Amino acid sequence: MPELPEVETVARQLKPKLVGRKIVSLNVLDSKLKHLAKTNLDGYKVVEVERLGKQVVLSLQKNKSQKYVAVHLRMTGRLIWSDRKVLADPHRRLDLKLNGGFLNFVDTRRFGTVEVADNLSNFTPKGQEPLSSEFNLDYLIHLTKNSKQNIKHWLLRQDKIVGLGNIYASEILFASGISPIKEVGKLKKQELTEICKHTKRILKKAIANCGTTFSDFQDSRGDIGNFQKFLKVYDREGLKCINCPNKIERIVQQGRSTFYCKRCQR
Ligand SMILES: [Zn+2]
Repeated sequence: MPELPEVETVARQLKPKLVGRKIVSLNVLDSKLKHLAKTNLDGYKVVEVERLGKQVVLSLQKNKSQKYVAVHLRMTGRLIWSDRKVLADPHRRLDLKLNGGFLNFVDTRRFGTVEVADNLSNFTPKGQEPLSSEFNLDYLIHLTKNSKQNIKHWLLRQDKIVGLGNIYASEILFASGISPIKEVGKLKKQELTEICKHTKRILKKAIANCGTTFSDFQDSRGDIGNFQKFLKVYDREGLKCINCPNKIERIVQQGRSTFYCKRCQR
């Protein structure tokens, strides 16, 4: 499942390809997207492409009318630009024909979603954007107060922080020296400071490296990200910790794997 850096990578790559182009037609190929069959985007111009939470959002304009297309990639969704002809891929589910090319939505497992709305607020995520200035120590203190969840699970809650998944949550806790089983409401101010700092640092570094590639993720060019070579604990079960002689352990929390060092994370 792509996390924030992977979706940001896709949006950044598509922006220069799409902005300024006009939509010629919308072609829906998958019955699961049939709610879009009557959507008319013809003549709308792409004015912005950005990430909103874990969605890639296209802002469109025609005269004074505005529309927004939000794509959630989920497990295997990919947005691929092709400038000659539409992509020949059996898993293509939808494409936008624009002047000068096609935006193809390809999705093997078909969990991805595409929605169109007149207001951007329809797609505003509930949780806080971790790279915004509003995501800070005060916000974390306020939100974590009295919560009895473990910190690893809490970091994955999209209604609190948007965009974090299993990979980055494990990495953030390792960098912060905090055990993933610790109750979030009992974290000290100093510990929350570390979490805040490393969340921003790790996400920025991952974006700079076009995300992490595990299993299915490919960016809009079919390339894979580079951040996996910077991972310190994720997927390293049984291997030596980079900071101490201990071995990295894997535990399962809420059905998801967590990787951590018992000695470095307390
Ligand atoms: Zn260690």
